[in-house]
Amino acid sequence: MAGIYIHIPFCKRKCRYCDFVSFPDFAHEDIYFVALISEMRRYASLMRGRRFDTVFIGGGTPTVLKPGRLKALLTEAKRCFDIAGDAEITCEANPESASDEKLGELIEAGANRLSLGLQSADAAVLETIGRIHTPDDFLKAVSATRSAGFSNINADVMHGLPGQTAESYLDTLRLVTDLELPHISSYSLILEEGTPMFGAVSKGELALPSPDEVADMEDAGFEFLDGKGYERYEISNFAMPGFECRHNLNYWDNGEYLGLGLNSHSALRLKGEWTRFHNTERLNEYVKELGEGKLPVRDTQKIERGEEMFETVMLGLRKTAGILRADFERRFGVDPVEHYAPAVTELELDGMLEVTEERLFLTKHGLDFQNEALIKFMEQ
Ligand code: SF4
Repeated sequence: MAGIYIHIPFCKRKCRYCDFVSFPDFAHEDIYFVALISEMRRYASLMRGRRFDTVFIGGGTPTVLKPGRLKALLTEAKRCFDIAGDAEITCEANPESASDEKLGELIEAGANRLSLGLQSADAAVLETIGRIHTPDDFLKAVSATRSAGFSNINADVMHGLPGQTAESYLDTLRLVTDLELPHISSYSLILEEGTPMFGAVSKGELALPSPDEVADMEDAGFEFLDGKGYERYEISNFAMPGFECRHNLNYWDNGEYLGLGLNSHSALRLKGEWTRFHNTERLNEYVKELGEGKLPVRDTQKIERGEEMFETVMLGLRKTAGILRADFERRFGVDPVEHYAPAVTELELDGMLEVTEERLFLTKHGLDFQNEALIKFMEQ
């Protein structure tokens, strides 16, 4: 299985906590679009022989593109790459730009999953973090998404936000579960240096919930989702049975993916070697190099076998189902339980890891202290 990620680096306005590569300036949309199409065409022959099972258009806010562009992107992707007929094709959207026109365009082009950014159902919290939509806009967007023909819908929500309480986080989860959305991603806020929010918190203008409050929020929220029938299948992701995100599962399985667009990352087996690289994050370089017929690739790294094994463990243990021992053995020729025997034994004794005949996975305690668990594998 392999995936394609396509990055759209434009947003109507920058959220206060955001450090993604996205710009609230559309002056370069046209030249970016041309460059992105030419990047796809350059990869077409290089990717021959590879079948892709998922496509994910992310950002940024893909739905801010000019009308017709999302459809043109997906049409070109299907022309350039061997995309399976039953591929999962996701597009991210924000409530204010999930218009009937854009949603219809996506459906026509074969998209079958929509990921909507809500973050919070509390209007005051949304304003504090710099979102430009209201909770009501989200309700309208869900309704429009369903009317367009999407049933596989994700809501992105956050916890640990300034001004957020456990109750307001639970209200957010109540809103999305009442809507019976089949997938929910709930990420804890990471305060990134250089963002306006980082500056406001550093100056004491904005207060964040304490780590204990965030942990309590998370426990209450995750228990609530469990009670509603959502399975926590990854540290921050919850789904009704059959609605797990295939694109992200491939990523956590340390599978192959091709990143297209500004700052997008790729992991591919090239000439037998596990290889990672990423595109430049500078728009002018991206456009210029593609215009000159070059791929704007940076930091190509050939990953040694031992590192590839560790990556596979590190990513695989994010999933609550953990790592299938047979899959690992098929890829590396060794059983992970034998290969990492000292770490596995120590973590089992600490109650952080469980091993069955089929798989190894972190316990709830292990998931809470995932970094500590991974250090044991890394130290080996
Ligand atoms: S919508 Fe998403 S990508 Fe755009 S500024 Fe906000 S957080 Fe960043």
